[in-house]
Amino acid sequence: MSGERILVIEDEARIAQFIERGLIYEGYRVTVARDGKTGLAIARDNPPDLVILDWMLPGLDGLEVCKRLRAASDIPILMLTAKDDVQDRVIGLDAGADDYLVKPFSVDELLARIRALFRRSAPTSRPDVLRFADLTLDTGTHRAHRGERAIDLTAKEYELLELFMRNPRQVLTRDVIFDRVWDYDFGGESNIIEVYVRYLRQKTEDETESRLIHTVRGVGYVLREE
Ligand code: CA
Repeated sequence: MSGERILVIEDEARIAQFIERGLIYEGYRVTVARDGKTGLAIARDNPPDLVILDWMLPGLDGLEVCKRLRAASDIPILMLTAKDDVQDRVIGLDAGADDYLVKPFSVDELLARIRALFRRSAPTSRPDVLRFADLTLDTGTHRAHRGERAIDLTAKEYELLELFMRNPRQVLTRDVIFDRVWDYDFGGESNIIEVYVRYLRQKTEDETESRLIHTVRGVGYVLREE
């Protein structure tokens, strides 16, 4: 099966070993880096298929490593953190992480997240350009345009906007959005969807442009024209 190569950037030997054993048992090939600088060098010289990245690292912290990895490639990044706080997660997701795992975690959960990330990053159908009103979204380059105006999106913003663009004029419930964009429940109390819808609105609606992502109070959101 798999054989995908996973780079683990984690300074704590005990945790790195725990992860490495679980991954090898599952058939992945594993490289461990004990600090961010080494991790970045390995990722540059021999790009892995996925990176597991600890937030708290000596020297360059995980957030900075994440930004630099993301600047160089679209490789799936799973961040490990002890910070079980929505705001911290948002910062990490904004830095380009694709998913999060809060320590302590089970190896089963880790493997499930990795499988989900590989599923999502697997090449799908040919890229195309989704259109709604004057908004376009290129599924190849992951760039959006409102009219002529180019819009840069983070990985999560792209996924959320793609979900809306593929389901125009349909009300998407919070549960559906969670399942499709985050793959798992953030814990029910989370305001992560609100946060990301706000980001998307800031990027896709300037003062002169009409609202496209509308709130359906108590239910979710819908992409429609006013
Ligand atoms: Ca650490």
